[in-house]
Amino acid sequence: MKRETEYENRQRLLGCKLFLLDMDGTLYLGDEVFPGAIELMHTLEKTGRHYIYLTNNSSRAGSDYIVRLQRLGFPCEEENVFTAGMATGLYLQQQHPGEKVCVVGTKAFRKELESYGVEIAESKAPVVCVGFDTELVYRELECAVDCLRNGASFIAANPDWVCPMPAGKVLPDCGSICALLTAATGKKPVYIGKPNRSMVDLLAEQRGLRNQQICCVGDRLYTDIAVAQNAGAVSVCVLSGETTREMVDAQERKPDYVLPSVRELEEWIRDMG
Ligand SMILES: [Mg+2]
Repeated sequence: MKRETEYENRQRLLGCKLFLLDMDGTLYLGDEVFPGAIELMHTLEKTGRHYIYLTNNSSRAGSDYIVRLQRLGFPCEEENVFTAGMATGLYLQQQHPGEKVCVVGTKAFRKELESYGVEIAESKAPVVCVGFDTELVYRELECAVDCLRNGASFIAANPDWVCPMPAGKVLPDCGSICALLTAATGKKPVYIGKPNRSMVDLLAEQRGLRNQQICCVGDRLYTDIAVAQNAGAVSVCVLSGETTREMVDAQERKPDYVLPSVRELEEWIRDMG
């Protein structure tokens, strides 16, 4: 029975045309690129597959990632990057057109939202939008609390509690900032990034693929793996980041595939073609 399941999984993975790759903890940590990570991109390309670097990190703009990935040695063009910030911009454009938005987020996040036509307000607004704000200022929290108490919609880019850093350090991420706002107002946000399936749905539609032809690769169960499961895509969990074998074992719904790192995924795709 187990062998049969493994065989099915291999077939499912081989049938994938588009790979959505998490970055932090999956392809690199800080400036340390993991072995096999760059080769994986080339192998995907050589075997006729496409890839998109998919990140929940909403502190940087999509264009920042292109520069960063290229500097680290990864092949990357504009079409290869999709961030929770970009997805949030699209969401606001579609769901709250013309509405002013009170933003808690970095300069890069604001600029990203503005590129989707979002108009940012410094006070009273019908929408509050929160990102991973590494430049957090109290005045913005004050504005967000005021708006939320007045019934504003509460949108957030990504639910991550922390962002992993080298040497075991973490930074408080968007989920933690939202927890502060929830404590102050009793309101809970709608999160647009992983595990919200809309990121996968959007890319599937854009590329003319079925969700089952998409594979999500990542190191975090509640975002990278959950988004694949929510969207009916294939999931690969790598143990090079925050998830341990014990954490996988404790999961009721397991990832389709669990590998030590992207190196094994690269070897496996190269072998199978
Ligand atoms: Mg990660």
